[in-house]
Amino acid sequence: MLSNDAQSILEYYKALLNDLHVSPAAPENLSKDDTFLAVEQTLRTIRAAAAELGNGNLSHDIKGKGYVLGSMKNLQASLRNLTWITKTIASGDFSQRVHFLGDFSEAFNSMTEKLESSIHELEEARSHFEMVFQTIPDATVITKVADGTLIAYNRAFLEATKFTDEDLTGGQFNIADLYVDLSQREVFLKTLERDGNVENLEFSFYAKNNARHIGLVSSKRIMIDDIPHALSVIRDITQLKAIEAKLQQSEERHRLLADNAADVIWTMDLEGRFSYISPSVEKLRGYTIEEIMAQTPEEVLCPDSLIHMQEGLARAINSVQNGLPFQVFRGELEQPCKDGSTVWTEATVSGIYSEDGRFIGMLGVTRDISERKLMEEEIRRLSITDKLTQSFNRLKLDETLEQQFESSKGGGVPFAIIILDIDHFKLVNDTYGHQVGDRVLIELVEALHDNVRAGDVVGRWGGEEFLIILPETTLADATVLAERLRQAVAGHAFSTAGQVTISLGVSAFTTDSSPESIVSRADTALYQAKEKGRNRVEVK
Ligand code: GH3
Ligand code: MG
Ligand code: MG
Repeated sequence: MLSNDAQSILEYYKALLNDLHVSPAAPENLSKDDTFLAVEQTLRTIRAAAAELGNGNLSHDIKGKGYVLGSMKNLQASLRNLTWITKTIASGDFSQRVHFLGDFSEAFNSMTEKLESSIHELEEARSHFEMVFQTIPDATVITKVADGTLIAYNRAFLEATKFTDEDLTGGQFNIADLYVDLSQREVFLKTLERDGNVENLEFSFYAKNNARHIGLVSSKRIMIDDIPHALSVIRDITQLKAIEAKLQQSEERHRLLADNAADVIWTMDLEGRFSYISPSVEKLRGYTIEEIMAQTPEEVLCPDSLIHMQEGLARAINSVQNGLPFQVFRGELEQPCKDGSTVWTEATVSGIYSEDGRFIGMLGVTRDISERKLMEEEIRRLSITDKLTQSFNRLKLDETLEQQFESSKGGGVPFAIIILDIDHFKLVNDTYGHQVGDRVLIELVEALHDNVRAGDVVGRWGGEEFLIILPETTLADATVLAERLRQAVAGHAFSTAGQVTISLGVSAFTTDSSPESIVSRADTALYQAKEKGRNRVEVK
């Protein structure tokens, strides 16, 4: 059994260690005892150190010696070390490890390693994203939807807008500043809100120094930290727009030219269908453009002209197929008109190639040449007509003789000729004058025409001599006709001159080797007629 003193000492120590808030008074009789005071001091030091440790205060200076205090000092140092290691981890240094806290060390270190590897992965992902973001060739930005704050942008964005990093960082820049017309931004925001994305929305934007550009923006709504953002790709189409406008302008100009040209300008695809015809075609052929667009080649060209055109185009297309350029076709074509008549045109056709050099169709210009045709016909008529008598001249007679000779020689039907000369014409001139003589020549031709067939060719051989070529006519029939002509002339009352007679020589193709020999025989016959007294027919 302990003494009362010992009992009270133990009670005091127990209270000192267990009850932090009570400061029990030491037993009075021991307050001067050195041993008691030393033990009490040690216990108070332990109590204070334990209280500070318990409160998490690691900077408390633990004084004193002994096993308990030493252990507490060690614990405090370990916790301080742990704090420092935690701080290095927080600052991104994952190299420190905990070695002094038993199982805790292992758990803590494996947490550190996990943290390190996931942060590494995160960084890799981030740098990967950054790389992709920067290599996108189109200007790309991430903005906060609510206020247009610029969160991220790539190099292409700097290139497109000519802004620098300094212009865009520092929170001064807002994506809305780009817009020339803010109503376009409203359309963008509305579409993004409604659909969650925006596709190819055209908008005008200011690049640096207020240079105006046209952009095409495509955007997707993305969530970052639960806040809606827009990931937008902007393509600068300013140049494209300018080229487009120029192209349209030049197309319009060409169209204007074609629409108002007097010539008909047209394009045709490789299947032979018109893809464009200028309006002047309506005046040319009387059909509407719609009617012509629906026409077949047979309806566009008269038969001979169709063959002519098809041959020309076949040659041209053939040269293209052989790798040569389209051989421009130029030809005179006869085309049917709506009123049943025809019109002569001249077409010039060249090839149309696509940008990559493929032959894709034809471009033609059709010109009305009816007036030129009439003029050419008139020139031709004049060139084969005798001015005084309006019968054919020597040129036409020679041509016709040659043709008839060629066809008869080739086994065709033989032909005949009559050569005739006015009797004593010198006398007519001498008696009544040259003009009356001229009048006789004119009336003689009329009389001849009245008595020959449409296909017979009556021409002035020279002076007051005439040649009549009678296709598909036998010598006998020609002789009958010659006699009829003789009578008709002899029975005609010429103005002023009265009666005039003619002598005629007839011949026909036999085994002649040239037209001249046929004429020569007729000439001989004529000479005989003159010899035999004139106003008669001789055959040779
Ligand atoms: P013949 O019966 O032998 O034929 O007698 P001819 O007087 O007719 O003789 P010839 O054939 O030699 O004379 C031709 C005349 O025709 C000569 C020329 O003055 C005339 N003559 C030729 N051409 C023309 C013409 O264009 N106008 C006129 N008025 N006379 C012409
Ligand atoms: Mg004569
Ligand atoms: Mg004569």
